[in-house]
Amino acid sequence: MTRTPTIGGNWKMNTTLETGPALARAIAAGLGEAPACEVVVFPPFPFLLAVGEALGGSLKLGAQDCYHQPDGAYTGEVSIEMLKDCGVSVVLTGHSERRHVLGETDELVNAKTRAVLDGGLACVLCIGETLDQREAGQTDAVNEAQLRAGLAGVSAEQMASVTIAYEPVWAIGTGKVATPEDAQAAHARCRGVLADLFSEEVAQATRIQYGGSMKPGNAPELLAQPDIDGGLIGGASLVAADFLAIIAAAAARGG
Ligand code: PEP
Repeated sequence: MTRTPTIGGNWKMNTTLETGPALARAIAAGLGEAPACEVVVFPPFPFLLAVGEALGGSLKLGAQDCYHQPDGAYTGEVSIEMLKDCGVSVVLTGHSERRHVLGETDELVNAKTRAVLDGGLACVLCIGETLDQREAGQTDAVNEAQLRAGLAGVSAEQMASVTIAYEPVWAIGTGKVATPEDAQAAHARCRGVLADLFSEEVAQATRIQYGGSMKPGNAPELLAQPDIDGGLIGGASLVAADFLAIIAAAAARGG
């Protein structure tokens, strides 16, 4: 089964109206016309339009979050249609900072995931265990529970638009990174859960990317693992040269 690698740049609450588009232009220029893997950048909401313009056609524009209701009295929230208006084609759901800093539940993550897919956009569903959960030997159980809850009500057909991001919470923004062997084992188990939830075919076709302090230095070894189909990059995506080096490592892995 060939899975095209996917690299996402999650800018979180960083960049400005000046530096965001400049970063996008630097990434686009470094990639050229036809990047050998899928590349998505997830800028802050206010800069979506400007970054989208700066990216040109060969990269995808993503949103870091969304709200699942179509419109109405939801102060501060952003709907799927609003994101589409801005040129967004991919949306993150369940990022650990939304789960653990902003208090999003599995139910809300699931509602958002379904809204993204029902709205015709692609979804990157983020899952992963905390340090306490890892030390308690609960990594696989947490990943499985978050997969089952996050994908409840999602059809096998819709899975063609889903990427899973396995992001151990203790590795995000900390400089600590899962060993390639540990990450590979977690990815393989997640793929097993997908096979159980949908089918072996869906499991083999679904991309599972790793996130958590991925950098140019550790990316090649992580991306060489058979079940690691790309990366979701935070800190290193804010430096064009580093992000481009990780993209090159993913492209070298091939599809
Ligand atoms: C992330 O934000 O999803 C992430 C993986 O961040 P970092 O690369 O900084 O650990």
